[in-house]
Amino acid sequence: MSIELKHVGYTYAPGLPTAKEALRNINLTFRENEFVGIIGHTGSGKSTLIQMLNGLIRPTEGKIYLDGEEYYETGSEEAKKQSKKQAKRAIALRMRQIRQKVGLVFQYPEHQLFEMTVAKDIAFGPNNLGLNQEEIERRIDTCMEMVGLGEELKEKSPIELSGGQKRRVAIAGVLAMNPTFLVLDEPTAGLDPKGRDEILGKIRALQQKNHISVILVSHSMEDVAHYADRIIAIDDGQVRFDGTPRDVFAHGQELQDMGLGIPQMTELGMRLREKGVPISETLLSVDEMIAALKEVYAC
Ligand code: ADP
Repeated sequence: MSIELKHVGYTYAPGLPTAKEALRNINLTFRENEFVGIIGHTGSGKSTLIQMLNGLIRPTEGKIYLDGEEYYETGSEEAKKQSKKQAKRAIALRMRQIRQKVGLVFQYPEHQLFEMTVAKDIAFGPNNLGLNQEEIERRIDTCMEMVGLGEELKEKSPIELSGGQKRRVAIAGVLAMNPTFLVLDEPTAGLDPKGRDEILGKIRALQQKNHISVILVSHSMEDVAHYADRIIAIDDGQVRFDGTPRDVFAHGQELQDMGLGIPQMTELGMRLREKGVPISETLLSVDEMIAALKEVYAC
């Protein structure tokens, strides 16, 4: 499975004096079983991009394809002319398919928990898919386990849970749709470091075990350096870098010029190099720094 964006652009309020071009000429492919981190400063276009991935907003330029099929292609021009109503229905059906395959977890998703119990909240999506009760129960149990929620929480009200637990319920609700792509907008915003590591650790584990693709928007360079296989850096509505964390953070100075931080150890490595310490590679973690220094000082 893949999501492919070709020459995609998005302008808010096009044609009006308040028009704002948020993205331009985006060419990207998201593949199966990747963990992709999306970075960029506030206003660079990250949210606009991920909302397009699950069909919440439609590109004003270019096209998006799910497995080679254009998101908004719903049959022949002839058929569309014959019945507007049918074309509308086809679009709605297509969007349903896309949202099932591309699950989006918004920032602060716990604000959208509204059912009386955790189980009912997770079951909301599968119920809408018209699945039978047995399958729904199975999905509730599997998804609670995937995100690390104990069975004893099943009949609790979401409002009784901690911040981190509520967020896991929201993620489980999206996972219960069995998506191929899980898109998360800052899933750890506002959580303490322990809650943050727990959630990202679980997401990483389920990506590896269940071969789901994860697309994670994050402000934390440490997190993307640690968890992602690929990083996409967006600046002023355009893709500036797309590669492995090591490749992308090798552009430390340019990222800083774009107003982004870089992982602490990458920065320390850069500083040491400037001072003449012969560290050749871009470093991403404390362990890598220790290994590099041991090599330099042969200890
Ligand atoms: P990010 O998620 O990286 O902070 P956004 O995708 O939210 O960036 O925003 C990209 C640009 O589009 C920004 O300049 C922002 O002000 C603008 N923008 C976002 N949403 C709207 C909107 N509803 N109407 C007009 N402009 C918007």
